[in-house]
Amino acid sequence: MRKNIVAGNWKMNKTLQEGLALATELNDLLATTKTNCDVVIGTPFIHLASVAAAVDTTKLGVAAQNCADHVSGAYTGEVSVGMVKSTGAQYVILGHSERRAYYGETSAILKTKVELALAEGLTPIFCIGEVLAEREAGKQFEVVETQIKESLFDLSAADFGKLVLAYEPVWAIGTGKTASAEQAQEIHAYIRGVIKAKYGAEVADNCTILYGGSCNAKNAKELFANPDVDGGLIGGASLKAADFMGVIAGFDVA
Ligand code: PEP
Repeated sequence: MRKNIVAGNWKMNKTLQEGLALATELNDLLATTKTNCDVVIGTPFIHLASVAAAVDTTKLGVAAQNCADHVSGAYTGEVSVGMVKSTGAQYVILGHSERRAYYGETSAILKTKVELALAEGLTPIFCIGEVLAEREAGKQFEVVETQIKESLFDLSAADFGKLVLAYEPVWAIGTGKTASAEQAQEIHAYIRGVIKAKYGAEVADNCTILYGGSCNAKNAKELFANPDVDGGLIGGASLKAADFMGVIAGFDVA
């Protein structure tokens, strides 16, 4: 069934102590808040085990921000899906535009990472999205469709059904420039249509598609009100508990 999810992406921020403090603050706030979405935090690798041990992971899911494209072996500095899973993390963010742009992650590499993550029982949060020049050229639909097809369309329907997608227009990430609610709905509906054409209506209807890109406490409610926007992947506004709780309140809380 389609879930609402608000997921934080801390990127390369917070020392271990700062990260633990934020995670426990969120954990305590969520213990006394009735949310209408699942909540996840994507921490640096070295925080995962401590954070997963410190929080109630049934209320506050834990995500890695990347994983290796190999199972194990001589890959110095890499972190495997098995290692991520062994920390207690349940999710892995894959295909973030920063990984694609700065670390050369191609659709083929990401396809391998998604398959390894699924085989390990991790839920990939798979990011797609166009850069500004592509949006200005009206190519955003083509770009996201290609990203989905190249990395995900060899999956079985059952495996595809385990994924979370995050549409993140690159021009909106960390820029303070958010896609309008109409722009978000338009492309989320398109993405759902692409999934429907390949896997059928049930898989498409059940797929959680998050919006990411300067989403914050002020604009979350309007973005999340769209029928095809099932939550957010949140960078800057996930770094302080009050800001992140404000985004979560975009789905109303009690
Ligand atoms: C992100 O990095 O996934 C993101 C959406 O960042 P921000 O919210 O800061 O734009």
